[in-house]
Order: sequence, then C-alpha cells, then structure tokens
Amino acid sequence: MKLPAFLDARRLEGRIVRLFLLLLLVVQTASFLLVQRAIENQAINAIDQRLKSAAVILRDVLSRRLAVEYIKSTVLTKDFGFIEAVGLLHSDEAGPATLIDALDNQAQRSRARLAAFVDLQQQLYASEALAPKAVAAAMALPEGEAKDAELRLALVDGEPLQLLRVPARAPGPIGQVVFAYAIHPELLVPIKQYSNVDVALGARNAQGQWRHTVHAENPDGLAELLRSASMMAPQGDAARNLEWQGHALRGRLIDLPALGNSESLRLSALLWASLDEEMAQPRALQLRLLFLNLAGIALFALGSVFTARRLSGPIQSLRRFAERLGAGDYDSPVQTRTNLAEVAGLARAFEAMRLGIRKHKAEIENYAYWDRLTGLPNRAKFIARVREHLSAEKPLPLALLVLNLDRFKPVNDALGRELGDRLLQQVALRLQPALGPGGPELNLLARLGGDEFAICLHGADAEKALIVAQQILQALVEPLHLERRSASRDADRPQDTLTVDVSASIGIALAPDHGSEPDDLITLAERAMDLAKRRQAGVLVFEPSMDARSPASLGLLSELRRAVDEDELRLFLQPKQDLRTQQVHAAEALVRWQHPQRGMVPPGAFIPFAEETGFVRQLTQWVLRAASRHAAEARRQGLPLRISVNLSTRDLLDAELLVKIQTILRDEACEPDWLCLEITESAIMDDPQRALATARALSSAGFRLSIDDFGTGYSSLAYLKQLPVQELKIDQSFVFGMVEDEGDRTIVRSTIELAHNLGLAVVAEGIETEAALTLLAQWGCDEGQGYFIARPMPAEQLLAQLQKARQG
Ligand code: C2E
Ligand code: MG
Ligand code: MG
Repeated sequence: MKLPAFLDARRLEGRIVRLFLLLLLVVQTASFLLVQRAIENQAINAIDQRLKSAAVILRDVLSRRLAVEYIKSTVLTKDFGFIEAVGLLHSDEAGPATLIDALDNQAQRSRARLAAFVDLQQQLYASEALAPKAVAAAMALPEGEAKDAELRLALVDGEPLQLLRVPARAPGPIGQVVFAYAIHPELLVPIKQYSNVDVALGARNAQGQWRHTVHAENPDGLAELLRSASMMAPQGDAARNLEWQGHALRGRLIDLPALGNSESLRLSALLWASLDEEMAQPRALQLRLLFLNLAGIALFALGSVFTARRLSGPIQSLRRFAERLGAGDYDSPVQTRTNLAEVAGLARAFEAMRLGIRKHKAEIENYAYWDRLTGLPNRAKFIARVREHLSAEKPLPLALLVLNLDRFKPVNDALGRELGDRLLQQVALRLQPALGPGGPELNLLARLGGDEFAICLHGADAEKALIVAQQILQALVEPLHLERRSASRDADRPQDTLTVDVSASIGIALAPDHGSEPDDLITLAERAMDLAKRRQAGVLVFEPSMDARSPASLGLLSELRRAVDEDELRLFLQPKQDLRTQQVHAAEALVRWQHPQRGMVPPGAFIPFAEETGFVRQLTQWVLRAASRHAAEARRQGLPLRISVNLSTRDLLDAELLVKIQTILRDEACEPDWLCLEITESAIMDDPQRALATARALSSAGFRLSIDDFGTGYSSLAYLKQLPVQELKIDQSFVFGMVEDEGDRTIVRSTIELAHNLGLAVVAEGIETEAALTLLAQWGCDEGQGYFIARPMPAEQLLAQLQKARQG
C-alpha cells in the first residue's frame, strides 16, 4: 500500500511531520500526566482537609448535643413531680415505680437511651437493664455540665453512649440523675451536609468488626467498608485511599476518647469522601484539556504537513524539473515558487543549468546538422528534410541531384587544405543562386561531405532537374579566384590570387520514380554521378541499367558475353611519346566494342557496367591476350613497343590474376617487361590492403606498374609511394585546362616534381595542344599521350605506322 507522502518516513515531508508530531506528543503526554498528578494531589489535599473538618464537626456535634441534653435534663431535676416522686420513694410503696415512670418519660422525651436515679444511699432506680453499667460509667465522669467540649463518651456493653450525671436538689441534694444517649444517625447528617463527608461511628474490635454502627444512611456493604478500613496499616489517624464498591475513596479512621475503650474494643469513627467525586470536575476539565490537546496536535500536524509541503513541494517540483531535463525537455523553465532562500537559490541554479544545457544542445545540433565550412546543411539534415517531404501526406515529386567536383583531391593536395576549403566555400556560393526560382527553402542545397554536394528540387521531373543541373555546371564554368595569403607579413603587398578552373559531375535520381527512401535516392544519384564522371558526361539521370541488378543490365551483360564470344571486341592502341626524344616506345591498350547494330561503342559505355557486374575480368583477359599478342608481334617486327593495359578494381581483387596473366603471356610468348599494367587511383583505394598485395606480386613477377588517372581519387602521393609502381599518369582533366588555368598548371607542375622526387616516371595524358606538349616537355614530364600526338587507333594500324616510321 502506498503511504501518503507525509507519512512516508523515507520522504522529507514524512520525516518532518513525524519528528514534530513525536516531539509534540512527548511534551503533551508529559504535561497531561503532570496535570493529572496535580489534580489528584489537589483532590487528595482537598478531601483530607474536609476529613479534618469533618472530624472537628463530629466532635462539635457530639459536644453540642451534650450541652443541649444537659439543659433539658435540668428541667427534669427541677421538675416538681420528679422531686415529689423522689420524696415518696421511701414513704410510698409505689414510690419507686412512680420515679422510674417519671425517668422513663423524661428519657423518652429527650430521646435518651436511659435515665436512672441514684439516691444519696447509692440506690439505683431505673427500668433499663443497661442502667447499672451506664451509671457505673457515669460515676467515673464529672458531675454536671460538660466543659471544654467534653464528649463524655463511654462504651457500655460495647454500645457507644454519651453520659450525663446531673445532681437533683430539693433544695438540698437528694441524689443524682444519670442520662445515657445513644448516637442517632441524624446526629451525623449535618456532617455530611457541611463537609460532604460520610461518617460511621461504632465500637470496633481488633479483628476489624464493628458493632453498634451508626451512619446517617446505613448503606449496603457498610460493614465491609468498615472492616477493610480498620485493617489498614495503623498510621495514626492519617487519611488514606480506600476502595469500596468500585469507587475510589479517601478515608480517615479516628479513635474517639471513650470510657471503656480497651485494646480489644474501642470507639472509632470512619470518615470518608469519594475521591472520584472530588476528581470528577477536574477530570472533566482535564478531559476538555485533552480534547484541546488533541485538537492542538491535529492542528500542529496540519501545520507541520503544510510546512513540510512548503519545503518539500518546491523540492519535488525541482525533482520533476530535473526529470524533464533528463528526458530531454530543455524548453520548459523551472516553475518553483518559494520564498525559502535556499530552495530559490537552488531553483535559480537549476534554471541556469537548463539554459546552459539548451545552449550547449543548440551548439551540438548546429555541429550535427550544419556544415561548418560552407554553412550549408549537412548530410544528416539533408536526409531529414528530404524524408520530411517524402513522408508528407501528398508528397510532391522530387529530384535529387548529387554533385561531385572533378579533380578536387589534387587541388587540395597541391594547393593546400586552406585553399581547398576556400574553393569549397566558393563553390557553395556559386551553387546557391544557380538553383533557380524556388530559393533555398524549396530547393535545398547541402554538403554531403568532401567535395560532394546534394540538391533537392521539389516538384521537379527529369527535364526540370536537367535544366537546373546545366545551370549549375554553367555557374562553375567561370574560373574561381582564390586569394592566397602571402607568406610575408607585409600588409602592403597585394594579395596573391589564384585562378582555378573547377568542373563537376552531377547525378540525378527522382522520387517517386526511383525510390522514396532518401538514402537510396542519394545512392542512386551517386551512381549516376559516378558514371557521369567516368564518361565525362557532366550530368546523367539515373537509369535502371546503371544498376547491375536491373533487367536492362542483365540484357546488356548477355550482350557483352556475346561480344567476347563472337569476337566483337577490338584492341585500339594510343601511342605514348617520349617527350625528350619524340620517339614512341609505348602505347596504351584501349578496348572498343564493334557492336553489330550500334557501331563502335566507346569503353565508357560498358566498362563501368562491366566493373559493377564483375564481367570486367573476362574483358581484361581478352585485352591482356590481345595486348600480349601485339607486343610479341611488335618485337618480332623489331619494334620495342611496351603496351599498357588497364586493370580494374575487380582485377586487383582477383587472387588468380597473376597466374592468369602468366598463362596468357606463356601462350602468346610475351615477356612481362613488354607490358605495363595501369591501375587507377580509385581502384587502389577501394581496398588498399589487397591492392598493395596484388601490386607487389605483379611487380615481383617483372611487370611494370603505373598509376592511372592520378588526381581524381583521394590518395596522397605519400601513400602511393608504398606501392611498387614505376609510373604515374596525370589525369587528362588537369592537362586539358593547363594552358589557360593557373591552378591546373600548378598542380601538373608540382605533381611532376613530386613524382620525380619519388623516383617515378610521369606520363601526361590528354595532351590536345602543342602548347600543352611544350609546357610538359619543359617541366620534364617523361611521356605524353593525347589526341595532339595521336588518337587511339586499331593495334595493327599503330604497328604499321611505327614500322613505317622506323623504315622511313
Ligand atoms: P584511361 O585509361 O584514362 O584512358 C585514356 C582515355 O583518354 C581514353 O579514352 C583515350 O581515348 C582518352 N584520350 C587520350 N588522349 C586524349 C585527348 O587528347 N583528349 C581526350 N578528350 N581524350 C583522350 P577511352 O578509350 O574512351 O577510355 C576511357 C576509359 O575507359 C579509360 O581511361 C579506361 O579507364 C577505360 N578503358 C578503356 N579501355 C579499357 C580496358 O581495356 N580495360 C579497362 N579496365 N578499362 C579500359
Ligand atoms: Mg589508362
Ligand atoms: Mg587515364
């Protein structure tokens, strides 16, 4: 069962309430007990006082009674009839009877127990049998009126009596009259009236039995009370507590002076009053006090609950606040209203913490969703936004463009990171306005990473997307001007500006045509972009045939198989000229497909696809065989021609590659040295570890290795140095722009220098002009390849040309 908070001792509120209530209870109980004690003492004192007064009153009543009876008795002694009766005692025979009559009459009138006459000769006249003993006792008492509140009590035959001895004169003494008075209950009534004390009087023996007991009302069980009272330990006549019929009493046992008192029998009075009664009023008061106390405790409890809540309430709300923070809600402020300085301070500290965390979170989000270099959204943000649009109730069609800069890597390597960064920033600035109407909200531009950007065009189809892509490429035609910080700190020196040509390849994927998952769309657009780059097509819209698993691709694959089987492939050679001697001792093998319907198909149209499907391995076999054959043929003709063959990523990962090549070489009687194997930078970077192993195996088998398309991948020369290569081919894209573009010039020149420093021969491909050729020769480039020297041509044609030149 769940306790309320103010009862739960594990909670602050419960602790406070419990402690305070406990303290209050202790104090209240102590004071209650003290008051109770005081009330009891007070009551006992009051009763004892009353018992004392009652004892006095008892004596007073008895002595007064004696005084009154004395006056009445003198009436008898002076009565003529009585005196005459005494006189006739001896003369008349009926004299004694007459006297006794008179005595009895008197006794009756005054409610005496007996009246007796004793003449001068000590002759006794009385009717009562008790008379002789009573008279004997009375003789021991003084004659006449009782003085000094004498009580003249006597136990006569165990009966308590008050005795009077009155002289009779006529006028000389004629005898004495003795009166004995029993103690009547009504005598005791005033005591009860005046002091509210009960009195019982009687003769008590040593066993605690009472005789001749007198009490105003003579209640039941009196004898029992008297017995138990007389059995009390003898403590003089001090008052003590008694129990009687379930009542608490306070009683006092006193012995009265009486003739005839003995060890075994004495005249005693028990005085008592009800302690219960005495305490009833103060008890009622105490009860009221108790109620008051309880009410106080209840009030106190309420008060302490209230105080505890005032204290724990804000702490609770701070706890809830902290829980909200924990759950990631940094927007709701602390809502603790309190005037407790410490708690308010804590709340302020919490609030400061919340604001701090919120700021921090915003910064982190900024890092997480924004690209710091260009200020554009990053990949995560881009994907989130695209997903938002695609998951709308009625999503507009979408075109997703992925743009990758061509040759960014060497720019970064040769010009330095700082310029590379600035180049990316400038590209971002160029891209934004090129997106056309719609603005950045509708047409979202993001940097996916490195030199890759993505654009999301809302509501665009392929046609529209192609227009925007062309606009973008157009925007990049104009060379970029990068300010180079001068090495000297001289502020007056104008800053050095570097002109750099950039170009890009763009791939486009469409939603919902190609997919509706942002990640998938990006992958498809990237594939299209890759192809665009390889084919130098600028822009390509994704087609299912680009996907190796699509039916269109499967069709193309079977066509390619047929091409190999039906001998539709042709080996073309493009000569490589020694730039120092202008001699041609090498050529690159480039495959062509003589398609029965489509005519001559360039490798860009099927090689990327063949690479994806793995079919490229068969192609490579074919090319290697053709190249070996022609190399051997050239030797036979006395031409020392080394033929370069392009290897793809798949070939590099093929563990059997070396064995296969060696088989072909044996078949064609060709030496390893007559071939050169070209590996593209990107092929190496796909799996550097295995590429390195293959390269080492090929190198130790005596093959010359060359790095193709250097500058298009992301490898650094430092890494390539580990490879056992002898040659480096600068990608044609740098060579094309070299004459006009200073950036390209710098790259080509520094690459030549670096490669030479690493002991590599440098080949420049894509030489289309004489100017480029001259510059490259000047910079010490070893070999050149390009349309300006010669276009790729059928192998036989090149051999014939070379033979002719040799002979000519
Ligand atoms: P690559 O290995 O860089 O080959 C050079 C490409 O540049 C060739 O295109 C060549 O015709 C072209 N080229 C040479 N000089 C110039 C010039 O002055 N201007 C211009 N605009 N282009 C020039 P091609 O023959 O279309 O081959 C394209 C790519 O296809 C090759 O680039 C290579 O990566 C691949 N390839 C071609 N044949 C084979 C092959 O047998 N096996 C493999 N794996 N790939 C091949
Ligand atoms: Mg090549
Ligand atoms: Mg190349």
